[in-house]
Amino acid sequence: MSELILFWHRRDLRISDNTGLAAARQQSPKVVGVFCLDPNILERDDVAPARVTYMIGSLQALQQRYAQAGSQLLILHANPVQAIPTLAGALNAKAVFWNWDVEPYSQTRDRAVIDALKEQGIEFLNQNWDQILHSPEEICTGNHTPYTVYSPFWKNWISKPKANPAETLQNTEGLTASEQEIAKQAGVIELPSAKDLGFSWDEELIISPGEAAAQTRLEEFIAGAIAEYQEQRNFPAVDGTSQLSAALKFGVIGIRTVWQATIEAQANSRSQETEASIRTWQQELAWREFYQHAMYHFPELADGAYRDTFKNFPWTTNEEHFQAWCEGRTGYPIVDAAMRQMNEIGWMHNRCRMIVASFLTKDLLINPQLGEKYFMQKLIDGDLSANNGGWQWSASSGMDPKPVRIFNPASQAQKFDSEGEYIRKWLPELRSLDTEYLVTGKIPPLERHGTGYPQPIVDHKIQQQQFKKMYQQQKEVMV
Ligand SMILES: Cc1cc2nc3c(=O)[nH]c(=O)nc-3n(C[C@H](O)[C@H](O)[C@H](O)COP(=O)(O)OP(=O)(O)OC[C@H]3O[C@@H](n4cnc5c(N)ncnc54)[C@H](O)[C@@H]3O)c2cc1C
Repeated sequence: MSELILFWHRRDLRISDNTGLAAARQQSPKVVGVFCLDPNILERDDVAPARVTYMIGSLQALQQRYAQAGSQLLILHANPVQAIPTLAGALNAKAVFWNWDVEPYSQTRDRAVIDALKEQGIEFLNQNWDQILHSPEEICTGNHTPYTVYSPFWKNWISKPKANPAETLQNTEGLTASEQEIAKQAGVIELPSAKDLGFSWDEELIISPGEAAAQTRLEEFIAGAIAEYQEQRNFPAVDGTSQLSAALKFGVIGIRTVWQATIEAQANSRSQETEASIRTWQQELAWREFYQHAMYHFPELADGAYRDTFKNFPWTTNEEHFQAWCEGRTGYPIVDAAMRQMNEIGWMHNRCRMIVASFLTKDLLINPQLGEKYFMQKLIDGDLSANNGGWQWSASSGMDPKPVRIFNPASQAQKFDSEGEYIRKWLPELRSLDTEYLVTGKIPPLERHGTGYPQPIVDHKIQQQQFKKMYQQQKEVMV
């Protein structure tokens, strides 16, 4: 009988282009998958129902893929530090394979699992970086230090050759009937629904779960919107971006597959505009890696500001303002439309993520960590590295050479939603008002009357001056 290898899936919910899984299959014809529903993650107070629903749907699809390949995906619901070694021991597995993850919690958890496996004499093999195209050690400055600025990171990152997609798992032996019984005794359960886990999401997901849907989305984007991405990605009313973020977060699609698709698109491109657009999209994929590398090298980012000036910043506490921001009731239409988009569909356009994050920190003067957490509670693609990177960038507390960045909500709306299309979609109560009122946010009392729409809760001009003053004082304290 072939020796069994367990492959532990975490942020790689697919059998195609999975580097660790392909490496496991090379070692043995008998590879069985396992996913552990981790209470340490699921019981936190920042888990979005849309995200769990997408994850469970993708696990369901992954179980089918395993069955087609001749094997199984086993499900555990327990602390992986005990559950994975217990299962591996019970099944007499030769080794457990998995792919690395940059997040601080994962790193600590993985070290504990490695120790427990070692005690049982089971090999662990997890030398694969699967979520990203280049490992954090591979992209560093001439002095062998991590980059803290994106532009030189990008130059180095793009100059390096990229791996091809890994081989898809196929023709694999699975567990025998008696081994399946043993697995049940070692904690293996049927896959629960998101509702069983306490997460209710009745809206349609912005992307269907599973590998096939992610692949289709990639193909559609590459055949269509990518050609005008450079221009269109800024307009929230336009479907100009890939909406692949949840698939990338959970590894429902392989990053090498995504990269290869961009290379093929470059080869087929017929205009400079298309070429520039593809390059811009590649730069977004590099931002994603920049933030993952940053989280790996500076895990303290997860706990607060990167820049010293912001480490003890005197943010204000105003629960009413925070609630108004969360619920999309600030009286600033572009901000409120964006927050309602996220609350309703579990996803927000990137331009609007920047606008609302700037508004929370520079207009309401509220600690970005509160906004960061609220995003995690709502987003289907909520991801520690990308979310933290986005928030630190918007709050000016992170790795960004520009000292202070303040977005004016009215100028942003005038530039990127000039017809008020996006605002009208998410704020139906304002649908019949003149576009001018919507984009400037200056709605006369007569027009406001009857809409139920609130007055602006703060004055942008005054608040940005206040922020600058606080920033200046804080800088002086630091000297
Ligand atoms: C305050 C704030 C919070 C954010 N929180 C998250 C988050 O929790 N999860 C998340 O995946 N992205 C986050 N982003 C980044 C970005 O907004 C989303 O990745 C993007 O809107 C997802 O839509 P898309 O898939 O259509 O992106 P596309 O424009 O099609 O981009 C392709 C992919 O590149 C990556 N990407 C794009 N922009 C960025 C970026 N600025 N930083 C990192 N990766 C990027 C994503 O994986 C995305 O799917 C945040 C940005 C800000 C400003």
